[in-house]
Amino acid sequence: MQEARPSTVAVVKCPGYEEELVRRAVSAALEDIGGLVGIIRPGDKVLLKANLLAPADPGEAVTTHPAVVRAVIEAVKEAGGVPVVGDSPGYFTRAAGGKCPALSKCGLKQVADDLGIESFQFEAMEDSFIETGVPGGVYLDRIYAARLALEADVIVTLPKLKTHSNTWYTGAVKNMFGAVATRTRKEAHKLATLERFSGSIVDIYSVFKPQLAIMDAVIGMEGEGPRHGKPKPAGLILAARDPVALDAVASKIIGFDPMEILTTRQAAARGLGTGDLSAIEIVGERIEDAAVSFKKPSGRMVNIPPFVMRIADRLLKVQPECVNEDCDRCRICQKSCPVDAITMTPYPEIDRDRCIECYCCNEMCPTGAMQIKRSWLAARVSRDV
Ligand code: SF4
Ligand code: SF4
Repeated sequence: MQEARPSTVAVVKCPGYEEELVRRAVSAALEDIGGLVGIIRPGDKVLLKANLLAPADPGEAVTTHPAVVRAVIEAVKEAGGVPVVGDSPGYFTRAAGGKCPALSKCGLKQVADDLGIESFQFEAMEDSFIETGVPGGVYLDRIYAARLALEADVIVTLPKLKTHSNTWYTGAVKNMFGAVATRTRKEAHKLATLERFSGSIVDIYSVFKPQLAIMDAVIGMEGEGPRHGKPKPAGLILAARDPVALDAVASKIIGFDPMEILTTRQAAARGLGTGDLSAIEIVGERIEDAAVSFKKPSGRMVNIPPFVMRIADRLLKVQPECVNEDCDRCRICQKSCPVDAITMTPYPEIDRDRCIECYCCNEMCPTGAMQIKRSWLAARVSRDV
């Protein structure tokens, strides 16, 4: 096995979630980036940071597929590591009385149990989050970080390939947003602009700096991700020691310019990884051969000069709105709003002056009742929708 350069990204075809197919694809991808030697030493505690956004069946393409997590657990064990699986799906802990339906529903608990390893929702653990500094943080100087992540010898970020209503794309860097407590996530959302919010995600990422990223891009999500988009096959597994490089390649595959993904751009600018495709070695499938165009989310607009934005601000609204007939009044949106802009009357009502358009309410709504509505003008200038 050849030693790969740090910013090598493996792109391997994987046409479905049958266990053997995924096992082979993950193994080939790891081999392409030089294997796990030098990343995992025998006895290392290895946190597999899956994406467990919400309780959803694997077929909904919201969460990292259990077959991918299974293959990674097996590889880590073979390298002598001691894997645990974890994430922080957020409000569902409290909604479900301390249990974690996301872990069970997305199939990760069963995989972990089958393979004899532990699986956690961070909030459900004792002393789950530890206040810690962010050396060199630009927007956050302190965060509440998952103890499991801080104590791990190795972190493997296991993102799902998805578009995102707020950040356009969510992948290996953004996946680490789930390794901090709700209070830190709310603080980040309060930064309001996409530039600042993305910068706070990079602050969080910089604390953990995962040593390895393996992406489930077998079936991704297009459109109104990360929760309410449509499953979209891409038929790929990606792996890299540099999660920033992996995001650059994955976002390009689905039709973005990697530099318009602000988490990639800012992480690269801070020297946390490589975002420039010309400096990344791609092994396996070429981007042109792997490319699959994903429908863009409607939540953001581009290429509008700032002076036009100032004039047209009110006309260009892209705001959440509750469709009452689909709402079961669970109040999850209200609890997830970082600026307390939602009151129940008895259905959710949004204080438009307070709303910072972070779309957390849309992301967390289990029924899809909290929809993102675009004004007439916004619908016409939104890209690719
Ligand atoms: S809009 Fe969604 S999250 Fe909010 S109360 Fe209704 S169902 Fe619950
Ligand atoms: S109402 Fe929704 S979009 Fe507006 S700030 Fe609250 S959570 Fe974010």
